[in-house]
Amino acid sequence: MTIQWFPGHMAKARRQIEEKLKLIDIVIELLDARIPLSSRNPMIDEILRNKPRIVLLNKADLADPDVTNMWVKYFADDGLQALPIDASSGNNMSLILARCKEILQDKIDKQLSKGMTPRAIRALIVGIPNVGKSTLINRLAGRSIAATGDRPGITKSQQWIKVGKEMELLDTPGILWPKFEDQMVGYRLAATGAIKDEILNVEDVAFFAVKHLILHYKEAFAKRYSLEVGEVDLDNPHEVVEIMEAIGKRRGCLQSGGTVNLEKASLVILHDLRSGKFGRLSLEKP
Ligand code: GDP
Repeated sequence: MTIQWFPGHMAKARRQIEEKLKLIDIVIELLDARIPLSSRNPMIDEILRNKPRIVLLNKADLADPDVTNMWVKYFADDGLQALPIDASSGNNMSLILARCKEILQDKIDKQLSKGMTPRAIRALIVGIPNVGKSTLINRLAGRSIAATGDRPGITKSQQWIKVGKEMELLDTPGILWPKFEDQMVGYRLAATGAIKDEILNVEDVAFFAVKHLILHYKEAFAKRYSLEVGEVDLDNPHEVVEIMEAIGKRRGCLQSGGTVNLEKASLVILHDLRSGKFGRLSLEKP
């Protein structure tokens, strides 16, 4: 993931998506089910304007199902169909086409009433880096399409990938940038692995994650590290850091002198979080 976060790059990314909008019938907006708003580009409505759109909540296999349902309702209230999916295992793939057809039904009906045979629905996948765009394209295509659009400097002609007979996808997804000026958004993105650890301080990210885990998933958290986690004052940083140190001790994250290396402990916690070791969890609620 080599994305540079300069206004110039953002403007270019936006232009590229706007160019592609002319070619397609519907946008597939891919979000991370664990952090739908934080993984969303804040200018998306402005960029897509009134282009028909479906929201896919990817990595639903890692997210808390109850919270994901709340998000589906949240988007529905906003007039958007949202469908939880899991691109890596292929869960709910057949529903994507069905839902896109529903959204475009008026247009399809019009073509039919004019005696035209509706052509395949043309779609563009858009989303921030690491949200699963390539995985979804490969899954829908039923084969491995080499292109990941994240590498700058690689330009190639646009190609349509057939998804059965009724849908075609542009082979290069639209890459959006998240907005992480808001610290909490940055922490959520970092905790899920959407942005590189180097962008934010790992100890800060792990600190955020531990607070969230204690608040919402305490049992799974305590069990993972065989810790007794009683009443914790989450507003007291010392208490949270003490727990991180206890984890470090258990996991042998020590430095010379026998004290805990908090950075190593933080990496352990974040690795566990990203690989689903605390079970299915969400980091953001509507
Ligand atoms: P892109 O940058 O948007 O193209 O993202 P990728 O398709 O490269 O996916 C980023 C990472 O997320 C990869 O390690 C994928 O295996 C993983 N991934 C993608 N979709 C899913 C999913 O539905 N569930 C899980 N658990 N992992 C996924």
